[in-house]
Amino acid sequence: MSADPSPSRCAGPWEGRSSRGRAAARARSRHDQLERRASWPHHGRVLISMQQLLDRRRHPRTRADELARLRARYRAQPSPRACSEEAQRLAKELRRLRRAMADALSRLEVQACRGCARNHPLPEGRWPGGHCCGGKTLSIFSPEEVAALRLGGTRTRDWKPPTSDHAGCVFRGPRGCSLAPEDRPSICLRYVCLELRHELKEGGDWAELSRLAAELRDTDAALRRSLLD
Ligand code: SF4
Ligand code: SF4
Repeated sequence: MSADPSPSRCAGPWEGRSSRGRAAARARSRHDQLERRASWPHHGRVLISMQQLLDRRRHPRTRADELARLRARYRAQPSPRACSEEAQRLAKELRRLRRAMADALSRLEVQACRGCARNHPLPEGRWPGGHCCGGKTLSIFSPEEVAALRLGGTRTRDWKPPTSDHAGCVFRGPRGCSLAPEDRPSICLRYVCLELRHELKEGGDWAELSRLAAELRDTDAALRRSLLD
């Protein structure tokens, strides 16, 4: 897949000095303010939602608190009603492409993802597979990714984490990702490390996945432009 050439799953096209880049930076700062308002101490007291309290009973505290910050990030994004029809169409198309990509990988029964984290230090090495899911949740679920998910129809109640140790992304568990592909950030579907790329090329499946990944990348970029216009 013409996967991101960058080794980082979280690299985004938002850097730079163009007017688009400045608009993105302003939008990011606005997101940060809204998120802080939703999750920071007020008058010396820390406000914790009922959902966060429940999560703290069910999950390690680190996962519960990251989930709370992720939900705050979701609430800070524009609602579908506030976006153009074109942005809504692109977000739905992204949703379809994420599913198509996951189905293609599942049909091929790729092996690389099952053992790539074996013998790595924590948190990645907590389970044998999913090395690239060992990053920080809020870096993977960037504001732009969360905006696309909200616009495409993902609700916060669709984000159900596993009841396992917390090792990287809050949705990573011993059996892989607990989310439906439609409800994951696009980067999760289009990222292909060298090991997986090698396996796909060996099996002759690279061309199909590469085409799908390029479509995902282009649609993602079109949606980001549309949200800035
Ligand atoms: S894409 Fe690479 S790093 Fe990520 S789970 Fe698959 S093999 Fe592991
Ligand atoms: S959302 Fe799922 S696929 Fe994406 S990083 Fe988290 S566990 Fe991995």
